[in-house]
Amino acid sequence: MIDTIKKELCTGCNACSNICPQNCIEMKDDKFGFRYPTVEYDKCIKCQLCIKTCPSLNKVSLNGKWTIPKIFAAWSLDEEIRFNSTSGGVFSELAKQIINNTGIVVAVRYNEKNLVEHCMIETEDEIKIIRQSKYIQSDIGFIYKVIKTKLLEEKLVGFCGSPCQVAGLLNFLGKPFDNLITFDFVCRGTNSPEAYLKYIDMLEKQYESKVKKVWFKNKTYGWNRFSTRIDFENGKTYIKDRYTDLFMRGYIEENLYMRPCCFDCKYKSFPRVSDLTLADFWGVRAIDPVLDPDKGTSLIMINSEKGNKIFNSIRKNILYRESTLEAAFSGNGCIAKSAIKNLKSDIFLEMLHTYSFDVCFKKCVKSNILKRIKRKFYMTASKVKRTLISFKK
Ligand SMILES: Cc1cc2nc3c(=O)[nH]c(=O)nc-3n(C[C@H](O)[C@H](O)[C@H](O)COP(=O)(O)OP(=O)(O)OC[C@H]3O[C@@H](n4cnc5c(N)ncnc54)[C@H](O)[C@@H]3O)c2cc1C
Ligand code: SF4
Ligand code: SF4
Ligand code: SF4
Repeated sequence: MIDTIKKELCTGCNACSNICPQNCIEMKDDKFGFRYPTVEYDKCIKCQLCIKTCPSLNKVSLNGKWTIPKIFAAWSLDEEIRFNSTSGGVFSELAKQIINNTGIVVAVRYNEKNLVEHCMIETEDEIKIIRQSKYIQSDIGFIYKVIKTKLLEEKLVGFCGSPCQVAGLLNFLGKPFDNLITFDFVCRGTNSPEAYLKYIDMLEKQYESKVKKVWFKNKTYGWNRFSTRIDFENGKTYIKDRYTDLFMRGYIEENLYMRPCCFDCKYKSFPRVSDLTLADFWGVRAIDPVLDPDKGTSLIMINSEKGNKIFNSIRKNILYRESTLEAAFSGNGCIAKSAIKNLKSDIFLEMLHTYSFDVCFKKCVKSNILKRIKRKFYMTASKVKRTLISFKK
């Protein structure tokens, strides 16, 4: 049955558990914290729906999706939205548009354990809950079923998730709905929730307090610095950039704890699976420095007429400039290529059962001289920038 699927194929999209008429598929964590389906065989009626629905084993319908997307660089004109978003804050503008048309938005929030899950929002005020990238896999739960009910009630629904989650939703629904609009992002990969929890645990011990709020890609020192900011209940704050924060280094530099399927992702081609794709427009400074004031610039790929329509409806709320696919590719390798698995990845995840996050990191990551020089350079630049910012204040 579906629980025999190879780990390298299963994205953990939950389409199988949502479609099962017997509710006998449970998504359970493996020893590295990645969720995979398990079947309760005494309840299973062998209908094969799980296998027929799985986007990793079947085609995903891309009808109506464009082979060549329209490309824009853009950001929200609302400075607060832009600062509090990961890239240019365009997703919040899209969500606002859907809600103002009496629709609902399904996207990702943190829960009380600082883990992440998909949820449904209906008011503009709730957009702040779903804002920002969380670089761990979100729990879909049974939200595809709820989405289907809302679609059948003729509600407008906007769904945002990784490309494999959008594929999971489309295959679960099994037919197109005019009132569904899908958003995904250029996806480097999703990290082990177990590794992330061990990282949080390490910081809670260092700061002698529980974590109150996690904020990846915080812009205090600029968008290009990729800083991670963590607020603690005792009022203290941790903030380090991509060159010094261990979790970001393990994710971006080392490819240490991504889900196995992410190293051979099947959603890196065109047409893309969603109506509109969001990303960071890395490299936009080389095209025109005016487009990168270090506050966050979104890359928008419009992949269908539906995507085009909603983009047109938010034009008045954003600054935008049309660009090319070539420009998008130039700074963003993850559009077309999967990350390469670190050979120490499994050892690292195994060691986390015994040692703290920083100890495992030290044991598995040997930084070479070039990397050390580069890091030193960026750390000094970061310090100078921080000092300048504090002088300005
Ligand atoms: C796991 C992950 C990997 C990414 N990899 C890249 C990359 O390699 N290159 C690149 O250019 N951009 C990447 N992005 C996209 C980028 O970080 C921004 O999310 C995107 O540009 C939209 O930014 P925004 O400012 O418009 O909106 P934001 O509000 O910052 O984010 C958009 C929405 O994404 C959804 N989201 C957040 N975390 C998750 C999650 N874990 N799973 C599913 N949905 C989530 C939320 O609902 C959020 O509102 C990635 C995002 C994620 C979550
Ligand atoms: S075969 Fe049918 S009943 Fe059995 S696990 Fe799959 S979907 Fe559920
Ligand atoms: S439907 Fe999704 S979660 Fe289920 S086996 Fe396929 S890829 Fe894995
Ligand atoms: S890299 Fe591919 S498989 Fe991995 S989370 Fe992103 S879309 Fe899914």
